[in-house]
Amino acid sequence: AKSAGGNRFELADPEADARAITRHGLTTALPAALDRNEFFIEYQPLVHLGDGSVRGAEALVRWLHPQHGVLGPDRFIPLAEHTGLIVPLGRWVLEQSVRQAREWQERHCAEAAAPLRINVNLSPCQLTHPGLVSDTVDILERSGLEPGALCLEVTESALIGADDDLLKPLRRLAEMGVDIALDDFGTGYSNLANLRRLPVSILKLDRSFTQGMQQYPADPVDLKIVEGIVTLAHSLDLAVTVEGVETGAQAEQLRILGCDTAQGWYYARPGPPERLHELALVDATG
Ligand code: C2E
Ligand code: CA
Ligand code: CA
Ligand code: CA
Repeated sequence: AKSAGGNRFELADPEADARAITRHGLTTALPAALDRNEFFIEYQPLVHLGDGSVRGAEALVRWLHPQHGVLGPDRFIPLAEHTGLIVPLGRWVLEQSVRQAREWQERHCAEAAAPLRINVNLSPCQLTHPGLVSDTVDILERSGLEPGALCLEVTESALIGADDDLLKPLRRLAEMGVDIALDDFGTGYSNLANLRRLPVSILKLDRSFTQGMQQYPADPVDLKIVEGIVTLAHSLDLAVTVEGVETGAQAEQLRILGCDTAQGWYYARPGPPERLHELALVDATG
């Protein structure tokens, strides 16, 4: 809303004010929401581009707020990061989704070609929290999930200029067999040579690249860029996952470019764990 003019002390934007109250309200409601179990997780399939099979899922947290309904993570993760609640919330997400992955594996066992994997997002605050490695080890041991079935996603921007102290816990997890993925890759202007220094095994190409593949044939410059990233990644032994795939044409072009795994509405929207189970089972039984 536009300011009415002269008076600086007048409330110029009642909408902004309402948003601020909501932000404040949401922030103060966060700790109780965790106690009351108002958070839940949706799972979005990760699909092998070569054969179209479901290989696992990314865990995406939501908040079922008693007044505002379902809130997406963009509404509350920044607030949780600001207050530090992201540490217990992130631990809860990790524990729930690791247990869920173990349950999928048990229900599929013999039929499935490869055990289903689970990807979980890590906020930068969790990276610097001293309990990260021990919590993760604990959660894996209690669930019985093998470390190789877990992938932790860290954004490229969180690791730009990362020093050894920041990388140490990630290295320990990688040594145990946990995959580390560089999320939103291509948006952070990181030095490509820097990649060798990071304990990552997967590049997750940002959605902006996938958007460039929307028309068929795609923009030749976009194609060259993605092709170059894939070649570099594979030469460093990194797998490439693409996100935001919304059409079959995008999937086909990304497959031809050599990308390994895809995620997006073309395959499935994020959904309840039962849905992932069904999608993976269809695959496993042909
Ligand atoms: P992200 O890690 O980049 O996750 C992918 C986002 O893209 C998700 O949004 C997903 O629903 C959306 N998406 C998936 N397929 C498509 C598609 O085909 N087209 C389009 N336009 N979008 C698609 P969502 O669920 O709203 O999550 C937003 C962000 O919140 C995530 O981005 C991630 O950074 C963060 N987040 C989600 N769960 C957690 C969590 O448990 N912990 C932390 N720290 N962050 C989380
Ligand atoms: Ca992610
Ligand atoms: Ca991403
Ligand atoms: Ca993103």
